[in-house]
Amino acid sequence: MPANLAIHTFTNKPWSIHECIEHYARRGIGGISIWRETLAGHDLAKVRQHLTDAGLQPVSLVRGGFFTGLTAEAREKAITSNLAALAECEALGIDKIVLVCGATVGQSPQVNRAQIAEGIARIAPRAQEIGVRLLIEPLHPVYAGDRSAICSLRDANDLCAELALPNLGIAFDVYHVWHEMDLEAQIQRCAAGGWLDTYHICDFKPDQDHLLLDRGLMGEGCIPLKQIDDWIHTTGFTGHREVEIFSRKWWAEDQHRYLDRIVESTRQIYG
Ligand code: ZN
Repeated sequence: MPANLAIHTFTNKPWSIHECIEHYARRGIGGISIWRETLAGHDLAKVRQHLTDAGLQPVSLVRGGFFTGLTAEAREKAITSNLAALAECEALGIDKIVLVCGATVGQSPQVNRAQIAEGIARIAPRAQEIGVRLLIEPLHPVYAGDRSAICSLRDANDLCAELALPNLGIAFDVYHVWHEMDLEAQIQRCAAGGWLDTYHICDFKPDQDHLLLDRGLMGEGCIPLKQIDDWIHTTGFTGHREVEIFSRKWWAEDQHRYLDRIVESTRQIYG
């Protein structure tokens, strides 16, 4: 079973990129999504070689985006940063990049959305040239102020439909959209549009003590994980289940035992 599991390197934040590759591969985990933070200071050619040697499939680079800004200069800086991220995809041989699209305090959601659409349209041709898909990750509305104006799967689907780019898709994350009443229908629409690219799992703890850094291990929270998983797979989705958990609690634990718990909890929930 862990072959169709992938882990985001930020899940095991205490580990270096090479430790992540080593330990995931040793556990039989099939994929890895690589955070740019984990790559900082590393030789990308060596990382790529290590991935190949370990037989680990890189799923996505995480993350680009943050297209919004109060000034044209700020927005231009975001384009430069996204182009640098695309160059990293190319160097690593990764064909997908997750976009946390951005929101700037002082701008309305509508202005943020327009700037996001503009930013995506700017970088899409370069991404297309190097064979990289851009994946909008809709975020939970609690992040609408300063992280993303795209706050539901419906909004992400609408934006994909509007931009109609051949290399635009969606990174679906249960944490952000589990509560949406029209989720099943929007998953079907997402898949039918050819946008259901990747699938992130974790859990939503109703009593979380930090907006970003207290995500739950699957089974620790209230997301109907199996039900959503069935909806995802009913569409014919064949990608990895990607474990993406930011948790100060779990980062303080022994990371090998934590990895055991991750594999065990996915086995319990998904069989
Ligand atoms: Zn995610």
